This record gives sequence, structure tokens and C-alpha cells, in this order.
Amino acid sequence: MKQESQKNYRIEYIKPGCIGCRACAKICPNFWEMEDDKTKPFPKAILKLSKKVINKEGVVLKETLETNDKETAITSISICPVTVIKAFETKTNKQLEKL
Ligand code: SF4
Repeated sequence: MKQESQKNYRIEYIKPGCIGCRACAKICPNFWEMEDDKTKPFPKAILKLSKKVINKEGVVLKETLETNDKETAITSISICPVTVIKAFETKTNKQLEKL
């Protein structure tokens, strides 16, 4: 079986804590977009192309994306005001620092 090559960094987003401030989608639109749900007063961010952990009620708890784009990963963790975005080195699991 062919194995996908592992990327150098992993972004983890704890979605329930998002307050919908839109900063990530505005500053890093290549990684982030906002939910298009008019029924919600504060639509949450979506980490594009991510793997999702969903509970049995269908609520997305966590989104994870592997990337080699360290700069955007660090920008993402630095701009989120409620620290629900974290990034790690894939090999070592060492957490990347904010700017
Ligand atoms: S920056 Fe943080 S709080 Fe703001 S929309 Fe993005 S994930 Fe949500």
C-alpha cells in the first residue's frame, strides 16, 4: 500500500472554542474560511482540507491539517485571540511558538 508522505507541521484547531472573530480567514485565507451558516449568530472558522473529529451528535470537535507551510501555521496560531489554534512539528510533536 502506498503511504502518503508526512508533512513537517500539523495544525490543530479546537473548533468549539472559536468565537467567530474572522481573523484567521481574513489573514490566512489559504488555510481558513468561515462557515456559511446564516442560522448561527457567530459562524465558526473552518480549517480547509482538514481531517475532522466529530462527536455522535454531529458536532465537529477538532480539525487537523498537515502542511509544510510553517509561516502560515505560525501566523494562524499568532492571530487567534482565544488560542484554539495550535501547531506542532510532526516528527517531534514540539509545539510551535507564536510570533
Ligand atoms: S482567529 Fe480563532 S477565534 Fe477567530 S475565527 Fe479564527 S479560529 Fe475562530
